[in-house]
Amino acid sequence: MTTTNTKALAVRENVNTKRPVKPRVKRWLEEIRNQLHYSGCTKNYDWPMYLHGFKDVLRDLRTSFKGTKQSKITGWSREGLLLKLEPKIGESLLDQYRFLAVKLYFDSQSPRPIKTTLGPLRYTCHYCSGSASFRKLDGSSGNSGRCGYVCDNFCDARVGFHTGDKLPLGCLANEELRKLRIKCKCEVDIYAHYSGLGLYKAFEELAKLMKLHTTEVKVARLGVNQCQEFLSLTRMLIKEASDKRSAQL
Ligand SMILES: [Zn+2]
Repeated sequence: MTTTNTKALAVRENVNTKRPVKPRVKRWLEEIRNQLHYSGCTKNYDWPMYLHGFKDVLRDLRTSFKGTKQSKITGWSREGLLLKLEPKIGESLLDQYRFLAVKLYFDSQSPRPIKTTLGPLRYTCHYCSGSASFRKLDGSSGNSGRCGYVCDNFCDARVGFHTGDKLPLGCLANEELRKLRIKCKCEVDIYAHYSGLGLYKAFEELAKLMKLHTTEVKVARLGVNQCQEFLSLTRMLIKEASDKRSAQL
């Protein structure tokens, strides 16, 4: 995994600490979600990433502009804050969600209803640092065939997308990484089923063990080393669940 999607998270400790959400922030989050739906994205999108991105921006403003009116989102104009947050080439997926969540926030506050433009995004291939485009995975044209984000330099890196907002599922993956991600998905499915926890709780448990935010432990967001760590932890958890079962018999 490169800086593509871990940079902003890697430096934080206690990433899964849950703090109570202030009522005003809760209301803004509801408005952001309504704005997302009004903009045509009603299903198949990663809400926890919008939520995480928006709260992350609020936290950054609070610490970076302490004691000034800019420490609050209400102290900014739409253009001013979006200009500051606009992701540059190569910045992380979280940066894209931070930008979009703020865009949705300001649009939701507009006196006149406006639709927010979401994906597809400008995205970067972290193998060759080239651009990645949203297009047919097999290069065909027309309405049939699967789409995704594909490296423009033809280095065989690709990743799927959320059909609702056309945002990538994670960073681009070459064949080796795609195979590893498939293995991770199979193992976590086994663990979720075998432990009786279900997938959401299983991922939560792995996030804690890997010291990652729960939004970053999704299979499509893991790099090679993280996949290997994910696989060995999942196999260890499966064994523990199996031993526990045997002991109960
Ligand atoms: Zn590439």
